[in-house]
Amino acid sequence: MTDTTQKINLLGLSPAKMEAFFIAIGEKKFRAQQMLKWIHQYGEADFEKMTNMGKPLRAKLAEIAEIRLPEVVYEDISTDGTRKWVMRMPGGSSIETVYIPEKERGTLCVSSQIGCSLDCSFCSTGKQGFNRDLSVAEIIGQVYVAAMSFHGPGERRERRITNVVMMGMGEPLLNFDNVVDAMHLMMEDNAYGLSKRRVTLSTSGVVPMMDKLGEVTDVSLAVSLHAPNDELRNQLVPINRKYPIAELIAATNRYLARLPDRRKATIEYTMMEGVNDSLENAIELAELLKQVPCKINLIPFNPFPNSGYKRPSNNRVYRFRDHLVSQNHIVTIRSTRGDDIDAACGQLVGKVEDRTRRSERYINAVQLDSNQ
Ligand code: SAH
Ligand code: SF4
Repeated sequence: MTDTTQKINLLGLSPAKMEAFFIAIGEKKFRAQQMLKWIHQYGEADFEKMTNMGKPLRAKLAEIAEIRLPEVVYEDISTDGTRKWVMRMPGGSSIETVYIPEKERGTLCVSSQIGCSLDCSFCSTGKQGFNRDLSVAEIIGQVYVAAMSFHGPGERRERRITNVVMMGMGEPLLNFDNVVDAMHLMMEDNAYGLSKRRVTLSTSGVVPMMDKLGEVTDVSLAVSLHAPNDELRNQLVPINRKYPIAELIAATNRYLARLPDRRKATIEYTMMEGVNDSLENAIELAELLKQVPCKINLIPFNPFPNSGYKRPSNNRVYRFRDHLVSQNHIVTIRSTRGDDIDAACGQLVGKVEDRTRRSERYINAVQLDSNQ
């Protein structure tokens, strides 16, 4: 029996780990760069086709290694260009990945965990509880699949994905090492070559890990705030009881201060009717955020069954925005895109036995208007 589980999956090796791999098998380290290109730029998963590797090396690789791709169980392309995949992970759970094209860029929303332990009150992923962390291969595999959907195997990849946001399922800072390695692959020239400004990690505020993140990378940061005071945030985002707003703001500023450029944080604020969308909330938020160089992204709540929350009317959203703008904040409102894909998703979710309607949130969540 050939046991593929024993083979090392090269898909998930960061540039540093790829070098270590080739050195460990007695090869020169430049092989790592060649392999990264084959996998991530050409989408080649067959060692035999890697012509610059030499026959004996190809044979050796076939024996000890593999390029194991995620299992795509559903793919859909909306008329507005939005693309959506459901990938089944070993163990049976599925995750979704969404690509949103815009005029000047294409943004991919990537998941970091199956489920989430943080249990924010308005989040369908949180309602599922935590299942497990995704491996590096499972995270970068989402980018691979999306990138490959624009070209055939072996062809050089077009740069259709210009931005990645870690805003899918899960809290990326609670799967720290795997997310950091995957982001390094996203930014590696011989892999996806994205600029650090165009890779964004979104966190609900795991403060100690924000500092750790600043020590190892300089990607862009999005902070899921959703409330202007601790009393309200404690109800919506339970991790706030551990790391309250003042600590979160301080950690955000420490992260920004480490960056070599004058980048701003994105503050995400999911708006729920009658919960956090009043003018008083806007006044308090405007004041609070004077302490942080930021852009504010208002996300009208995406309803899902039994959520207990409602999306506010456009007028309430505009009133909230107008106050923030009057206080000199930069504000964007995420609009819904890929409507026909949303509809498809309703059916899709049933088909793949996915219990949530995450795609709606993804489609809204990826529209970071960061002008990057
Ligand atoms: N765990 C991370 C990243 C994933 S969530 C975080 O919380 O930041 C990505 C974004 O989607 C977060 O800002 C989250 O608050 C938002 N979100 C979750 N559920 C939502 C819903 N039902 N409607 C609108 N936005 C939602
Ligand atoms: Fe987890 Fe983010 Fe959902 Fe909160 S909003 S439960 S942190 S995925």
